[in-house]
Amino acid sequence: MPVDIQNAETGENTPKNPWLKRGDDSRKALAEAEAKTEAKRAEFGKAWRFMINKNKCDVDHEITFLDGVLGEDGLLNLPTFWEHTLYWNGRWNNYICTDETDPCPICAGNHSPSFVGLLTVLDHTPYTTRDNKVIVNEKKLYVPKRRTIKALAKAANLHDGSLVGCTFVVSRTDENSASVGDVMNFKEQRTLAQLMKTYETDDVSPLNYDEELIYRSAADLREMGVGVSVSTVGGPAPGGSQAGSSDLGDQL
Ligand SMILES: [Zn+2]
Repeated sequence: MPVDIQNAETGENTPKNPWLKRGDDSRKALAEAEAKTEAKRAEFGKAWRFMINKNKCDVDHEITFLDGVLGEDGLLNLPTFWEHTLYWNGRWNNYICTDETDPCPICAGNHSPSFVGLLTVLDHTPYTTRDNKVIVNEKKLYVPKRRTIKALAKAANLHDGSLVGCTFVVSRTDENSASVGDVMNFKEQRTLAQLMKTYETDDVSPLNYDEELIYRSAADLREMGVGVSVSTVGGPAPGGSQAGSSDLGDQL
């Protein structure tokens, strides 16, 4: 895991996670990702990821964004990174692409990573845990791919350049569409104070992304056997969007 290192010349701290792009870097990375694709083409952290099960595509899910503000260039300001989604060891897992710091063993196995962003939502759909506890309005990671990031930027543009406090009713067109939902209907925009009051919480800040994702080094991935030896085909369809070609998955 990369650690903070003070730069001797500038005195600035280098980012804790160099694979996680922010601000201008993040927007630049989106542009570069676009360029790459034009030219060629769960593992969970501590918080759950918001995903619509492929068997529940038609079910409406209400979510409220806690971050996501447009930059002056009209692009959404959000941390971004490259991620592999692989069927390995009996389940679908997400692995951060290590190419930013070390040659990635998964890329070496001819698997294309997806460019993804990070946002935080409140998921208003209740669910019951195994010990019969009902959880609702849980904070979750929202991990959109490029197409969804662009759709969200358009949506933010309609709401003073910000998704913060915006509630959407989301669903999926079908099981090949983005697992975070590709049909998004705006419901309302509330202030953070209103959210706190409505949901009886004082915590409406976005998740700490530096802490939420698990980064495995290239050496760790190789040691685990993830990478060139991994078959990326033949497993059952995952949560949905990754079914089909990786190029298609990357678009969603
Ligand atoms: Zn990779």
